[in-house]
Amino acid sequence: MIENVVEYFRNLPPKQCATCGEKIEEQHECYGRQCESCDEL
Ligand SMILES: [Zn+2]
Repeated sequence: MIENVVEYFRNLPPKQCATCGEKIEEQHECYGRQCESCDEL
């Protein structure tokens, strides 16, 4: 069962910043589509 969960997340496309393409951590989801650095600009 655990392997199925790992496979599920592995198939998910990584969230990327719309500006610089940096991978966005899930906990930053509230920031929208930009990473923490670009969001401060
Ligand atoms: Zn960025």
